[in-house]
Amino acid sequence: MNPEHPSTVSVEVLVIGAGPIGLETAAVLGDEGRDVLVVDAGAIGNTIQRTFPPQTRFFTSPERLAIRGWPVTSPTEEKATGEEYLAFLRAFATGKGLAVRTFSRVVGISGREGNFTVRIAALDGDEYSIHAEVLILASGGIDRPRKLGVAGEDLPHVRSQLGDPHRYFGRTVAVVGGRNSAVESALRLYRVGAHVHLIHREAQLYSRVKPWIKPDVESLMAEGQIVGHLSTSIVKISPGGLELAQVGSDAESQWISVDDVLLQIGYEQSSELFDLAGIELTGPQRAPAVDCETLRSNVPGIYVVGTAIAGTQAGFKVFIENSHQHADQVAAALAGRPAPKPVPTRPLPES
Ligand SMILES: Cc1cc2nc3c(=O)[nH]c(=O)nc-3n(C[C@H](O)[C@H](O)[C@H](O)COP(=O)(O)OP(=O)(O)OC[C@H]3O[C@@H](n4cnc5c(N)ncnc54)[C@H](O)[C@@H]3O)c2cc1C
Repeated sequence: MNPEHPSTVSVEVLVIGAGPIGLETAAVLGDEGRDVLVVDAGAIGNTIQRTFPPQTRFFTSPERLAIRGWPVTSPTEEKATGEEYLAFLRAFATGKGLAVRTFSRVVGISGREGNFTVRIAALDGDEYSIHAEVLILASGGIDRPRKLGVAGEDLPHVRSQLGDPHRYFGRTVAVVGGRNSAVESALRLYRVGAHVHLIHREAQLYSRVKPWIKPDVESLMAEGQIVGHLSTSIVKISPGGLELAQVGSDAESQWISVDDVLLQIGYEQSSELFDLAGIELTGPQRAPAVDCETLRSNVPGIYVVGTAIAGTQAGFKVFIENSHQHADQVAAALAGRPAPKPVPTRPLPES
């Protein structure tokens, strides 16, 4: 037992997940005088720290990422990078005096409304309990990279995170996918001197790829500088290359030689926390069952906020900019106030 970990901690509200919406919810409830603790399996903003390649900009504008009037600023006045937003989240958590325990993974939930016991696994392997009256799951929706489901995708040269593009200098890389992450990775790899194949099963790149990237990549593909394989699926990944098939055609498969394969085909939500809490999952996205006004789940005393409410999103509809209000919805529900009026969607959602 680590003496730094008290054997039990008691709080009124435990927020699980220190992403932007978990922190925002904690701040709103704290401002209402509630005793709130936030725990996260990783650092604050863990999803962003884990999944954003270095110096990657949000699609969403800074004013839509801002929380409760705290501005997201950048020295360039451009859209924020992941690093800039993490700095913002640190400043917000400090400025609001939020109690946050990082590297504290929830591994067990028992009890009932008014008296939950949550088991926490600390990074050093120690486990201890937190007692809370109310639980708020702000655990996000992008836990693990989606898999292709083809032979060879567990080979060591197949990755799902770009990381620092520098490592790919001089290498031949197959980037798989056609949405923002894939297209941005293809461009960055090309610019660090990799020879890039971009493989996408649709006939065109996703229409809402960041408009400051899409024309560059389409031009490079038209010139053959990035080798585009559209309407193409992957049959098999092998050491040294890939077998490709034309979608909807009986033509023979094509072999291309590559050093690395980078899968950029999205993420899936983990249902682990919902299963621990006994929350029902519904619909094709396996979304947690919540009341849309209060965000209360089917388990009394447990609420779900942020992108976690949407399950595994096929096309992103729930993201940071339209989750800010979740904090007000839960605050109203806990205080017994009527649900706040829905905030109208901005004319052009930035997903
Ligand atoms: C390259 C890239 C670009 C993106 N661009 C945008 C964009 O422009 N706009 C946008 O809105 N979104 C964007 N996203 C998605 C963005 O990361 C999410 O929308 C955002 O992080 C969701 O915030 P959240 O607070 O709902 O959840 P998250 O930020 O996902 O936070 C969930 C937290 O819960 C924690 N957690 C989960 N399980 C446990 C557990 N068992 N115990 C303790 N803690 C746990 C996680 O560690 C995590 O920190 C992008 C994602 C990527 C990869």
